[in-house]
Amino acid sequence: MDRLYGIADWYDAESLLTHDERLVLGRLREFLETTAKPLVGDYWERGEFPYEIAQPLIDLDIMEPAELTQEGPARGIYQGFRIFELARTDASLATFYTAQAGLFRTAIRVGASEEQKKEWMPKVIDFSLRGVFSLTEPEHGSDIAGGLATTARREPGTDTWVLDGEKRWIGGAFTADVLAVFARDVEDGQVKGFLVPREAPGVTLEKIHRKTALRMMQNAHITLDGVRVTEADRLHNVNSFKDVAAMLRAMRSDVAWIATGIQAGAFEAALRYVREREQFGRQLGSFQLVQEKLARMLGNLTASLSLVVRLTEQQEKGIYRDQDSALAKMQTSLLMRETVALAREVVGGNGITLDTDVARFHADAEAVYSYEGTHEINALIIGRALTGHGAFTK
Ligand SMILES: Cc1cc2nc3c(=O)[nH]c(=O)nc-3n(C[C@H](O)[C@H](O)[C@H](O)COP(=O)(O)OP(=O)(O)OC[C@H]3O[C@@H](n4cnc5c(N)ncnc54)[C@H](O)[C@@H]3O)c2cc1C
Repeated sequence: MDRLYGIADWYDAESLLTHDERLVLGRLREFLETTAKPLVGDYWERGEFPYEIAQPLIDLDIMEPAELTQEGPARGIYQGFRIFELARTDASLATFYTAQAGLFRTAIRVGASEEQKKEWMPKVIDFSLRGVFSLTEPEHGSDIAGGLATTARREPGTDTWVLDGEKRWIGGAFTADVLAVFARDVEDGQVKGFLVPREAPGVTLEKIHRKTALRMMQNAHITLDGVRVTEADRLHNVNSFKDVAAMLRAMRSDVAWIATGIQAGAFEAALRYVREREQFGRQLGSFQLVQEKLARMLGNLTASLSLVVRLTEQQEKGIYRDQDSALAKMQTSLLMRETVALAREVVGGNGITLDTDVARFHADAEAVYSYEGTHEINALIIGRALTGHGAFTK
């Protein structure tokens, strides 16, 4: 069987995958190349999502594929490469899929009681219960832990909660059945989680327009006005922000895989271009200065892939620390920013059109750089682990 990733996987991280895992990823590759890729440029320009490929993508059965799950859940390394493969084609597609397979699934895995998980998890995996992760607010992004202002009020003597507040940037909300909403209990001041039906009375969704990154991905500004949720739809294992932090820890490693996949897509597109385009009667790829940029892109990509593979191996052993996924998210995103800029640069003027792919990766990288913890916040998480001093507010 040919290698899936070739040059973009310089140190052959793919050899960590089993034959069957590579077959599933090959199935995903085929779909992305033939069905998704031809659409993404036009949809990106229009600022719309190609919903016609959402169901076929779900039907590929790549979250917990039957052939990989006879003896338990799919392995972390497979899940990482699945994200890599999606992001290598398009960052919005990767974000769309990860909203369910990463964010929402993690909210249930960490936040639901065993009984709730038994009911919800199979539906999360087959997408019959679609959800999103609604944490960020218009006035609270990086300081959400202490600042979270959406309120939850238990009606005395009933099993009903009433939610009020606003959420911002929530990816995939327009096609979700439920929104996993995090709100502060006015009684004890602690953050709790709720599954709110998207169509519940009092829920309003507005599309965020005029984005210059991840234009295909639809993000919502959500208003919750006296929204009623039952105790049965509260995430029973979310009792403080610490439980939300445990979710973020797991989700940040997914974003590090996205940042790595974007680099692969940009690098491959740039390499293709410089092998074809001629100036001064020679291929662009034959010039020393262009080769130096190719080498730097490959170095960044290889460092990122090595980082996420090792992080995933640690997590598979059950080692989850805030500073580990923060380091991977921070570093792969930094390297991504340079890689996509170099890719855009070597493609010249055509590098700012959607025809050569590098422009899309270049623009989309900015959103990935900022979501799931900005550079500064991840650096501060690492700094706290190194020094014992939390410097978030100093
Ligand atoms: C495309 C996209 C999709 C998203 N999807 C979701 C989603 O599905 N669900 C969800 O809940 N959220 C989502 N988010 C929100 C995302 O997680 C936040 O944007 C992110 O946490 C940063 O918050 P902010 O944008 O409010 O920036 P701010 O917190 O306002 O930060 C602005 C700048 O100030 C810096 N800064 C802030 N505090 C400090 C400090 N103490 N020290 C030094 N610098 C600091 C930041 O690093 C940043 O550079 C998404 C965002 C985007 C752009």
